Amino acid sequence: MNEFELIDVFFKSKALIRDELVYGIGDDAACVRVPPGQDLYISTDTLVADVHFSSNWDPYDIAWKAVMVNLSDMAAMAAEPCWLSLALTLPHNDTAWLQRFSLGLHAALTAYHVSLIGGDTTKGPLSMTLTVHGLTATGKGVRRSGAKNQDEIWVSGELGAAALALYSKETWPAADRALLMTQLQRPKPRLDLKAVLQTYATAAIDISDGLAADLHHICKASGFGARLFLESIPIHPLVRQYLPEQALEFSMQGGDDYELCFTSPAAVHDELQEALGQTGLRCYPIGVIETKPGICAVNSTGDLVPLVPKGYRHF
Ligand code: ADP
Ligand code: MG
Repeated sequence: MNEFELIDVFFKSKALIRDELVYGIGDDAACVRVPPGQDLYISTDTLVADVHFSSNWDPYDIAWKAVMVNLSDMAAMAAEPCWLSLALTLPHNDTAWLQRFSLGLHAALTAYHVSLIGGDTTKGPLSMTLTVHGLTATGKGVRRSGAKNQDEIWVSGELGAAALALYSKETWPAADRALLMTQLQRPKPRLDLKAVLQTYATAAIDISDGLAADLHHICKASGFGARLFLESIPIHPLVRQYLPEQALEFSMQGGDDYELCFTSPAAVHDELQEALGQTGLRCYPIGVIETKPGICAVNSTGDLVPLVPKGYRHF
């Protein structure tokens, strides 16, 4: 199969169509029409083999994860993901690999009603760069920079399982290992929090590099610091079970969970809880924004524990 047949078979023929799409794959550029009264959000993420995923993974899972980490950036902005382009670099033209990859890709995009509108296909070491486009009503997006002094800090789910997956041992029960791998390979972008964020959040970020590192981005962008209550951090039960000593470390510093961390005024705490309850969602208040720069943590005895955001850094 040559490059163009490959694009037709694995990407173009299965791409989902959305209303605002004027035309997608097949021209030199795709054309979309942003509806009046909406803002357009654009975000790019690259996944490199054996950095962001293992080249041994089922290509279905690689595609699924690549889509979800991109959609997670839209979730963090409280935007609805609509269109995606994919620049795929492959070491060779392996149709069995592409078959599985394209199956995972289109399943992931269909699950979230996102159109594949274009991309590029090249030969080289395995990597992929996805660009996702999303919409909100004008001005409704949530940025990292809006946190205010005394805002509460929330996290949208239990943390640490994705990091534990990379650490898991052959001797652990297969069911637990499988569950951890699912956390790593199939993160769920928290698009279900869009309305809550748009109504209550002053700042938000998705947790890709670890809670401490990502909260640090909110603090820096907003010009404040943060105080975390270590007892309130929602640690994934398997992390507690397998690594009781390092559970907090994994939950605070481990990446790849793709939950959201957001801030909102303490005055709306009850209203926010009520809104979450009505939609069957649960988020956890874990701390407070303060004027003192940096992130500090308070343990159960009220002692201050300094915290260094480690997070994964490429350079
Ligand atoms: P050009 O040479 O003008 O850059 P290409 O031949 O690379 O165009 O691509 C042809 C069409 O196929 C374009 O519409 C492009 O967006 C689309 N395309 C190429 N690779 C992919 C891919 N991996 N996924 C989705 N669309 C793709
Ligand atoms: Mg061209």
